[in-house]
Amino acid sequence: MTAPSQSTASPATLLIVDDQQSTRSLVKGLLGKEGYTILQAAHGAEGVALFESARPDVVLMDVMMPIMDGFEACRRIRTLDRNEGTPVIMLTGADDLEAVREAFDAGATDFVTKPINWPLLSQRIRYALRGGQLMREVRLNRVRQASAQRIALLAFWGWDPRTDEFEWSEGVDEQTACPIQQITNVDSLIDALVADDRERARRAFQIAATGDLRIDLEVRMPSAQGERVVRLIGEPGTEGRDLGKVFGAIQNLTDTRRTEALVDYLALHDELTGLGNRRLLTQAIVRSLEQLRGTGSGVLRVAWIDLTRFHRLNDALGQTVGDTLLVQLGQRLKSLVAGGLAARVGGDEFAVLLQAEDPDQATYHLEQLAEGLDQPIRILAEEVFLTSTIGVARYPEDAADAERLLALAQEAQRQARGLGRRMVHCGEFAGQAHRPALELETSLRHALDRDEFHLVFQPQMDLRSGRIVGVESLLRWNHPERGLISPVEFIPVLEESDLIVAVGEWVIQEACRQARRWEDAGLSLRVGINLSARQFHDPQLYMKVVSAVREQQVTPRNVELEITESLAMQDPTRAIELLSQFRDLGYKIAIDDFGIGYSSLEYLLRFPLDTIKIDRAFVMNIIESRADRAIVRAITAIAQTLGITTIAEGIETLRQCDFVEALGVTEIQGYLIGKPLLPDELEKLVKGFLRPGSRTPDP
Ligand code: C2E
Ligand code: MG
Ligand code: MG
Repeated sequence: MTAPSQSTASPATLLIVDDQQSTRSLVKGLLGKEGYTILQAAHGAEGVALFESARPDVVLMDVMMPIMDGFEACRRIRTLDRNEGTPVIMLTGADDLEAVREAFDAGATDFVTKPINWPLLSQRIRYALRGGQLMREVRLNRVRQASAQRIALLAFWGWDPRTDEFEWSEGVDEQTACPIQQITNVDSLIDALVADDRERARRAFQIAATGDLRIDLEVRMPSAQGERVVRLIGEPGTEGRDLGKVFGAIQNLTDTRRTEALVDYLALHDELTGLGNRRLLTQAIVRSLEQLRGTGSGVLRVAWIDLTRFHRLNDALGQTVGDTLLVQLGQRLKSLVAGGLAARVGGDEFAVLLQAEDPDQATYHLEQLAEGLDQPIRILAEEVFLTSTIGVARYPEDAADAERLLALAQEAQRQARGLGRRMVHCGEFAGQAHRPALELETSLRHALDRDEFHLVFQPQMDLRSGRIVGVESLLRWNHPERGLISPVEFIPVLEESDLIVAVGEWVIQEACRQARRWEDAGLSLRVGINLSARQFHDPQLYMKVVSAVREQQVTPRNVELEITESLAMQDPTRAIELLSQFRDLGYKIAIDDFGIGYSSLEYLLRFPLDTIKIDRAFVMNIIESRADRAIVRAITAIAQTLGITTIAEGIETLRQCDFVEALGVTEIQGYLIGKPLLPDELEKLVKGFLRPGSRTPDP
């Protein structure tokens, strides 16, 4: 005989509750043989206790018992067993209809009359067990379904177009986390929607009513927490009384749609600043181009902005402050390009799209942008000055597609950086140089022959001794008509035209001649000579310098070659090799304009170096800006441990001098000590030099 079982795994347990020992024994004997595990109780109270502790699969319960009768015991078991539906079969007297009614009232599953017909009882038990199991499965499915619905915020609905009545599944409000129950007909549904969705919803129900009873509608409902998004899908009902109605599911999609919107947003925006990213900018340019082509008027400008000192600020002040700076700058950019679009296109790179009616207006916008970028940013109660270089590409002048405009703007920005210029327009330095530069170039070609160049020398003071220990040679051009022209203006032109190689050679020779004169006059001054990128790549450079120094018999340690940070970085291998050769001869090497480039300090220190010249940009605001102080401090700290001289450039006041001294800078150069001077002026200054701020001349 097959053992009856609750599940296939374990045999069923049967609890017999009867005060008659004989009945219990028979149950044990007969049903025990069929494979049941039999538990016995002699009265109701014992039966309830045993039920609670052993949880049998089926209960046989006598009615008349001492202490607690079967009805009461059955009721208690039902309370204990609220969700399981364990079958309880009552053993009643024959023809006792009242007892049968009371048994069902008490929660009994079935009844068997006494005297017991044993084969029948066995069938009834099997049947009850199967029923109980089905009940449990149904209940479990219902629980699972309910939680699945709750998780999916899903419920069911129906609509009868003939009566215009909605019906909702039970608990629709909880299931969808949405007040749906209150909606009773199409009008009340429409009322619950945001205004923009009403017409669409009404039409959908009209079409369903006159057509195929299908609905697929996503609508928004206003709520205190923002809009809810709800989707109603329905199909024609198929069963008897559902025919002619729409039945389907209603789902609250608010979170899903919100997540989707967030994903879309993130795909097009920079998380930190909230500005658009490159993709969004490209899309915006594409749209603007289409629009301008449509109207046939207007111009576009794409400006690529690179923050010059950001890496260093970030290193010195920490990433949190760096992030705050970027966020603030992002906000500023946004306000500067109102009507256009600002995007973050790299760690410290931004790009903006400007639209204007004509080139003049565009130029005005760009000037405003540059000016706005120059304003200090307030952070931690102090002002940080960010410097930037800007490259500009133009529509229709330079390109007519978005990607190309962006690429050109970036390219122009790189040129601006290379030339040390603030803003460069695409094409400005390629192909046909623009007019003023061309004129300048023509005049420069003759300048050398016509002896229009001369050198001036700016003193450098050692902070410890208070003495002038060096000078920097600076080139001056005396234009026949325009007078003195700034090297900031003409050096880029010399570089562009390669004239710098010849002029640079003259500078080297002239500086050496001057050094010789000073040595003859008993002055030991280190003479700094600026080398530009183009010169640096001249294979003859080494020869040129060495022969000039030897010809004039200048003491090698009085020769200091200044190269810029970006130059050193262009071709580090070659730079290291060439600089080492110079150093082997005893010349000094200085890195000029340090701090505005991109290299990390650690990297730069792999170069053979004697001096770091800290750019004027850091000195300018040294008193107000903790950021700049942090950077200068970081530089001097490393320089000190390596025995490298640091020169702070552009010191104009005593206070600036005090600050940089406190930060560990070893030498200063700037108007405080002296402007670039003619040789004899400088000689006079050195001889009678009195450290600024001190009272007595140095011995
Ligand atoms: P630089 O090498 O960084 O030179 C320092 C510049 O800062 C000089 O400008 C100097 O006059 C200016 N300066 C010095 N102290 C102060 C100060 O206290 N306040 C202010 N506001 N400015 C100060 P300059 O002479 O106009 O030269 C500009 C740049 O032109 C130089 O920057 C250098 O890059 C380049 N340059 C000058 N002469 C030569 C040269 O012979 N060869 C090459 N390749 N480049 C040169
Ligand atoms: Mg210099
Ligand atoms: Mg400099």
